[in-house]
Amino acid sequence: MSVPATRSAASPGRVAEPLVDGWGRTIRDVRVSVTDVCNLRCTYCLPESGIAWLPKDERLDDDETVRLVRVLAGLGVSTVRVTGGEPLARAHLPALIERLDAVPGIEEISMTTNGVLLHRHADALVAAGVRRFNVSIDSVHQRRFAELTRRDVLPAVLKGLAALDPYRDRVQIKLNAVSLRGITEHEAVDLVGFARERDLQLRFIEVMPLDADGAWTEDHVLTGDEVREIIHARWPVEALPRERSSTARVWRFLDGGGHVGFVSSVTASFCGDCDRIRLTADGQLRTCLFAHDETDLRAALRGGASDDELVALIRGAVAAKQWGHEIHKPGFRPPARPMSAIGG
Ligand code: SAM
Repeated sequence: MSVPATRSAASPGRVAEPLVDGWGRTIRDVRVSVTDVCNLRCTYCLPESGIAWLPKDERLDDDETVRLVRVLAGLGVSTVRVTGGEPLARAHLPALIERLDAVPGIEEISMTTNGVLLHRHADALVAAGVRRFNVSIDSVHQRRFAELTRRDVLPAVLKGLAALDPYRDRVQIKLNAVSLRGITEHEAVDLVGFARERDLQLRFIEVMPLDADGAWTEDHVLTGDEVREIIHARWPVEALPRERSSTARVWRFLDGGGHVGFVSSVTASFCGDCDRIRLTADGQLRTCLFAHDETDLRAALRGGASDDELVALIRGAVAAKQWGHEIHKPGFRPPARPMSAIGG
């Protein structure tokens, strides 16, 4: 089901100059990691143990997060994706979301979650203003799910998805599955069957070199094309035109059974019209998932920076945004932080 999730809003407080990078790309979207803590230990993301979470005082508090989003909205950023870590591991998240949703110029709040705690918070999150949920689910088989996430919690995720059912007329729900060679070949058809039964769009995301163990190699990637061939053999699909700045290429089931998406970050990157920046839980601005540089907005905030000073810092960082990831270039170095600490 396609739900028009973006509300149209006037944007009081906008500054004249939008946020444009050195390649001419206008920034409209910020991914806000509200915590680095996660309640799963997905093999392609986190180590099994020995994780040093950020001390609480190093994480931005609600006032700091709202202020930075307000400054960004003043520069034309209009959509916020709340992520983590696991965003629902942060206490009182609906209260923060309600404040973010009220920032002038912010037109849409979305959230990426593993869904484990969703059944407890779905009502409050929808009431607070979340209009799009991406729920991560790499397998619909309990044992395989537990192997991949190192936690036996698939039933909780299913309960979380069910808790969103009453809101299907006003929120958009998509599923994310990371695509891993040797695993997803066996999971893809059942995952898609699960999504089709519930009229949800599933997106396969090629696994990226963002694992905490630094073990990624290209051999780990089951490519979007390969997954699509598996799906196509069961339910034929045809490509839809790519939407501007979209991370996913979307295909339509010819039998009318909805859509399936492919985020082929490794084999068919989509950096050319990237409109995204990221704010980590400790207040670092990152202009690319694969950037090596971060801009310390937390230090500026806590050092008493004015809004104009924050704007200057943000503009400087965005002007230097790299063109794209360089996974295929010789000498590629993954970022120092794993996906969980950057905010997926
Ligand atoms: N905890 C939340 C969740 O699981 O959806 C939000 C954060 S998580 C980092 C966001 C997304 O990134 C999830 O769909 C997760 O599967 C994906 N992810 C994590 N590590 C990845 C990697 N190395 N390559 C590709 N996707 C990854």
